[in-house]
Amino acid sequence: MKILVINAGSSSLKYQLFNMENGSVLAKGNCERIGAGGTVTHKRDGLETYSAEVDLPTHEEALSLVLELLVSEKYGVISSIEEIDAVGHRIAHGGEKYKKSTLIDDEVIAYLETIVPINPLHGPPAIKGIKACKRLMSKTVQVGVFDTSFYSQMEDFRTIYAIPYEFYTEHKIRRYGFHGTSHRYVAAKAAEQLGKPLNELKIVTCHLGNGSSITAVDGGIAIDTSMGFTPQEGVPMGTRSGTIDPTVIPYIMKLKNLNASEVEDLINKQSGLLGVSGLSNDARNVSEAAKQGNPRAQLAIKMLANSIKKYIGSYIAEMNGIDVLVFTAGIGENDDEMRSMVCSNMDVFDIKIDEEINSNIPRGSGADITAKGARVKTLVIPTNEEYMIAQDTAKFC
Ligand code: ADP
Repeated sequence: MKILVINAGSSSLKYQLFNMENGSVLAKGNCERIGAGGTVTHKRDGLETYSAEVDLPTHEEALSLVLELLVSEKYGVISSIEEIDAVGHRIAHGGEKYKKSTLIDDEVIAYLETIVPINPLHGPPAIKGIKACKRLMSKTVQVGVFDTSFYSQMEDFRTIYAIPYEFYTEHKIRRYGFHGTSHRYVAAKAAEQLGKPLNELKIVTCHLGNGSSITAVDGGIAIDTSMGFTPQEGVPMGTRSGTIDPTVIPYIMKLKNLNASEVEDLINKQSGLLGVSGLSNDARNVSEAAKQGNPRAQLAIKMLANSIKKYIGSYIAEMNGIDVLVFTAGIGENDDEMRSMVCSNMDVFDIKIDEEINSNIPRGSGADITAKGARVKTLVIPTNEEYMIAQDTAKFC
């Protein structure tokens, strides 16, 4: 069985074609700068990468090019598009309706259109990607895999904001949570690696990348998570502030005479590691500068580590315990110092890592970094959202 996974962004379209017989990636790539020129990069394992500048006015042209490449004599991996059994779409927001991965029909598209106001960045490109697939692969099964679905069992006292209740009932302003596919994948992997049933484990998963979120997974169910109405809430991120006193926002608006979009830009694109360090949104650059003694870089790194620690502690309280702590994504998988800072002084919870193992993990491999004798297992697990999407999609074939 072959599954194509599509992740459409505002000006990009990422894809991976999986052979589900062995989980291998037959081809993957990315179309970028859609609508403003266009580039494509197409890779196959062990073979020459194809990259080119091409005119990609819309997502449909981008998908059309991807399909051409997949079957092309020179760069292809399949002989016909009919070999693709189904397409899985990564969809950031499924609103309150989609509690699990779903076959995409006109009703799903219509619902996604209704929730664009609460998902203005990711909604429109995801819909474009789905519509392009419907036109170009009209007979192929399409499945939507929603980042928010994993949080559909979160209880209302954890999702409702303490503002007048009508903002929830009338405008659907509540906490939704994001990165669910990644948290779901690594939680399941952790259970598999430990040889224990997922429904018997209390797990805290830390997805730390450009965007970061922490999730409490109790018995396989996500009971709480750090992101909220948007991916802005929670720990400080590359350029996002994370949680701040909400009154800071109108105060800044008045102080600097900013309108709503300008202040949104400030907390979304100019804050986080970038805003505090004044150097970069990239954790590698910030931690390098911190090592060289830059005080604002040191401050940014300490703020991030402390915020992650606070979420872990609060989730241990909410779950009344913890069996496994998982680190994943760019920073979680690769930044041994961040893991070390987060896990320091956590003996009270029986969390302790082996510094030697922690600082010697080959890139992309993951490891059990638990110190000898510590009860709580601390694991580094490379995330694979695309494969999770492909697995969900395959269930519909
Ligand atoms: P995204 O959220 O865009 O998917 P990633 O999961 O790829 O992002 O994570 C990107 C982040 O991971 C960047 O801040 C990058 O600096 C960080 N990162 C990647 N490798 C390392 C490393 N070796 N040390 C520290 N940070 C790293």
